[in-house]
Amino acid sequence: MLLAAILFTAQTWAQDECGYVPDEAYIATWKNKNSIQNKRLKFLKEYSIKDVQKMKEIKYIDGRFKPVMLKSSDIEGEGVEGDLFNGVRRTIPVVAHIVRRSNNTGGLSRANLDASIARANNFYASSNMRFVLCEVKYINSDNIYNHSFSHLSETNSNANASFNKLTTTTRNVSRKLNIYFVPNSTTSWTWRPLIDTRRQHIMMKNSHATNESTLSHEIGHWFDLFHTHNGGDELVNGSNCSTAGDFVCDTAADPNLSGKVNGTTCAYTGSAGVVDANGHTYSPDPRNMMSYSTKPCRDRFSGGQIYRMQSAYLGMNTDRGYTFSFCFTIIKPIWVVGTWTNKDLKTRGITKIIVSDKGKKIQTFGKCHPNDCDWKTVPLKKSGSIYKATYEQGFATKKLSISQSGTNGMKVVVDVDYHDNRQDRRDTYYMKKSKNLILNPGILQPGILRPVLINPDGQ
Ligand SMILES: [Zn+2]
Repeated sequence: MLLAAILFTAQTWAQDECGYVPDEAYIATWKNKNSIQNKRLKFLKEYSIKDVQKMKEIKYIDGRFKPVMLKSSDIEGEGVEGDLFNGVRRTIPVVAHIVRRSNNTGGLSRANLDASIARANNFYASSNMRFVLCEVKYINSDNIYNHSFSHLSETNSNANASFNKLTTTTRNVSRKLNIYFVPNSTTSWTWRPLIDTRRQHIMMKNSHATNESTLSHEIGHWFDLFHTHNGGDELVNGSNCSTAGDFVCDTAADPNLSGKVNGTTCAYTGSAGVVDANGHTYSPDPRNMMSYSTKPCRDRFSGGQIYRMQSAYLGMNTDRGYTFSFCFTIIKPIWVVGTWTNKDLKTRGITKIIVSDKGKKIQTFGKCHPNDCDWKTVPLKKSGSIYKATYEQGFATKKLSISQSGTNGMKVVVDVDYHDNRQDRRDTYYMKKSKNLILNPGILQPGILRPVLINPDGQ
């Protein structure tokens, strides 16, 4: 009975642990110090992590690494491809595939999905990465919903391998991180990214998606991290750290922490009699995200792990043949568009300007009594950073030159060419935007910043 109880408990632990098993070829890559992955990592470590964050990609050309630095146009500007470098924080675009019953019921709830991604964003802040949910795709199928997925059945020839059962060949959205959420599974695991696009996804068991750390752990695998106990051959003294264990030298040798961590204190409880090949007692880190520690205890990555994830991101194009593309193209607002009023309320000249049609039309109002005069709407043309418009008013031609003044202001220079005897003149006005962008609070999701900007002027 007792034995049965122990076996049952062990089985429960085993089922709870991540099912990621790196293949031999991949392990060999990391054991080989001349592999492109190891050489890139070495190259990258010559830079501070701060400088690494300023890189967009590392190209590998003619046997040499060439970092491509982020430009301001990657971060801001009109019509840049999405928001991949928010500030310089790397954005990972995520597509969630949620398996439900044929009648659209069941499956991971949207609230649980959002919470899971929000937790990942907390854990990855130290790695300069953030995750943005681009899209939720539902797979409504009783057949798939009732299927018991198993990480042990993942072979190319097995029809029940997750990628065959889920037909990820057609479902995976290219250039995104695809995550599948299923109700019945032995566990959660990651297909390490390969050139084979069928197997570039994370498998999440729904009950793991709602725990503290499993999604973040799986994402770590996706970015080239191994379990800290990988191989089980790392020595406590660190002498073989680059060719054994997880191949990361600043993570302690780990005997596999499954069932060996106090869930309350997060202390390692397995020291008695558990020694490495030299007979040394382990001193592992139960807080490391890539360990088999209890889920609430895992909350950090080591510096070496962060470098490795950065290297995986920066070398994606070299290693996997693609880079991420963001969910959508953000069209940045055009500053000039909107309604502007003169800062000087007592002005005798221009009182108000309305710029519309993506900055192609301008309507100007001048001081008149009792109501302002409408100069009407005329075309607005951009010339460098200046916008120009001309008003023909019979007695005079007025040429407007509009530029930005400070961060939120507009400067309007008006050259007046009188057609009578009056002397030509130049007036300068300073305007302010009468209405600012309004954040619609109803569209914000907890933990995931997805503000929708609503502009009253139709931007
Ligand atoms: Zn794992």
